[in-house]
Amino acid sequence: MKTMECSHCGARARVVRSDYHMKELGLNVVLQGAEVVRCKKCGNQDPILHRMDDLMRSVALAVVQKPYRLTGEEVRFVRKYLHLTGQEFAKLLKVDNSTLSKWEHGDDPVGAQSDLLIRFFATTMGDGLRDRIGTVVAQMGAIRGRRPRRAAIEISADTMEFQYA
Ligand SMILES: [Zn+2]
Repeated sequence: MKTMECSHCGARARVVRSDYHMKELGLNVVLQGAEVVRCKKCGNQDPILHRMDDLMRSVALAVVQKPYRLTGEEVRFVRKYLHLTGQEFAKLLKVDNSTLSKWEHGDDPVGAQSDLLIRFFATTMGDGLRDRIGTVVAQMGAIRGRRPRRAAIEISADTMEFQYA
């Protein structure tokens, strides 16, 4: 049985396999079969996240290939994946800072063309995504609906493959 020290109370805690909802990303992402430190003493649960680069790459791929208009949270995730400030990303997309800010906060829906452009930049400039540009562009024709709709993304902790829930 694998154990680790609880980061909250310091007790020995078991390491178990469990699905972990990665709320810290601001997206709906569940890491399936993640290693989680589960403390019986204080109830604290800490995920042990391996291969963070691969994990973030899978989330980014799931976002740029999803068949619905991007939500504000997803636009923000993509911008951060590209290591850009709001100002830099707005300039790249040829929109005002305030327009990008409204998108990211969900005050305005992203337009259809901007949505495609965001996916295009994400895939061509994002770490480790460029070889997927053909797949992403092919998928663009399948984007449905006029309103943003959040993707529910499941990622296997073992293979790092994603699927939509
Ligand atoms: Zn504890």
